[in-house]
Order: sequence, then structure tokens, then C-alpha cells
Amino acid sequence: MRKKIIAGNWKMNKTVGEAIELANAVKLELADCNDVDVVLCPPFTALKSVSDIVSETQIAVGSQNMSSEDEGAYTGEICHTMLKEIFVRYVILGHSERREYYKETDFWINKKVVKALEKNLRPILCVGETLEDREAGNTEKVVEVQVREGLKDVDAAAFTELVIAYEPVWAIGTGKVATAQQAQDVHAFIRGIVKDMVGAEAADAVRIQYGGSMKPDNAVELLGQPDIDGGLIGGAALDATSFAAIVKAA
Ligand code: PEP
Repeated sequence: MRKKIIAGNWKMNKTVGEAIELANAVKLELADCNDVDVVLCPPFTALKSVSDIVSETQIAVGSQNMSSEDEGAYTGEICHTMLKEIFVRYVILGHSERREYYKETDFWINKKVVKALEKNLRPILCVGETLEDREAGNTEKVVEVQVREGLKDVDAAAFTELVIAYEPVWAIGTGKVATAQQAQDVHAFIRGIVKDMVGAEAADAVRIQYGGSMKPDNAVELLGQPDIDGGLIGGAALDATSFAAIVKAA
């Protein structure tokens, strides 16, 4: 039985003061919630404050990116040591906004995934097709390449640690949510790819989140699908009550 995992991607929102307020509100809302893994992913500047607030709770902290390098002359980058020092446990990698605006490729995303795992951080690898891909009938093709390339050289044992987030790009921040069946179909497809890559045990263990306009009113149906093991939440994660309602739906 896979434990559900709900992560909030705050993106480039919240000053440190605002992040402290939101993290405290989420902590209060979820004080009694232990049966779901909850991860808050604020911007880098607020990671330390949020990490302090949720220390000694079941809530974990994740970053929205990480360098594939260990240290050195990489202006503007943040490495694993810096994240682990402040008790960051998860790293979102390959989000569609990073693929689109910063031209991150599967090659570099894979380097980050491998580095994160090597350093005991848990990657949340984001994959998903654009509207153009879907309309051209290329959803499976695109998702398969992202999964195989993003998880290249990752061994079977790591699939209990890493998380895959299926995020159809056309559903992110648009209010257009994939139907539960559309999402389930792709999740099952992804699990099939993992089985082919590293075997049935890893495929059965790996958690696959859905992301794309998940809200309290559609969460129950999405999270009720057999291959949907949680959610990566953008907009609704910026409101403690909505985010907590999604966690409770899980
Ligand atoms: C996201 O960016 O990961 C996301 C799922 O955003 P939203 O929930 O706002 O669609």
C-alpha cells in the first residue's frame, strides 16, 4: 500500500514573512494529520524559516530546484549540501516551467535526479505533455521519453524514495483539470514504463502524483484512482485551508 503524498509548490510566491505566516497556518490545519506525507516547497529564500517552523512535525520541506553540481563557480545555483544543512528532504526537478522558460533538458534533469538520490534527497520528477502534444496524440510518447531519460541510471531500490509527478502542462495554473480517467490512464502508463525499466516491485512501490489545477473539489475523485498516489499542488497550496482540504481528501 503506497502512502499518499501531497506537496505544495509555492513557486515564486511569498516573501519570508508571508511564507512564515502560510507555513504556520498549514501546520495548525494539519496538526492531527499523520497518515499522508506532506511537503511544503517555498522559494529558496524562505526554506530555512519554513523548515524551522515544521521541524518536529510530520511536514517535510522541499526545494523547487537543485544544482547537479557539488559546489563551486555556478552563479545563482544552490547545491545539495546547502539544502540538507537546513533539513530540506525533497527536491522538485524538471517542472514544466523550468523546462519551458529555462530550457532544462532531460539530460540535465537526469543529472540532478541522480545527484539528489546520491545525496539522500528525494527527487519529485515532473513529467507531462503540452496541449499540442496531447492533441497530436503524442502524450504517451512524450511522457515516456521524459520518464526514461529523467530516470536513466537510477536503480530499482531508489524508486521507494523518488516520486514522479504527472503534470499535463495544459492543466497547470489554467483551471483546466485532467479528468480522473485521463490522469489515471497516464499514471498507469507511467507505472508500466517503470516496470519495464526496473521491474514490478519498484513499479508497485513508486509514488506517482498528479499535478494540474488540483483543488479541494476535484481532489477526492483524482486521489481515488488506483494509480494516483498524491498531488503536486500549485495555486491551491497558497491558501492553507485549501491545501489542508486536499491533504485531508487524500
Ligand atoms: C504546478 O505548478 O505544479 C501545479 C500543479 O500548479 P497548479 O496546481 O496551480 O495547476
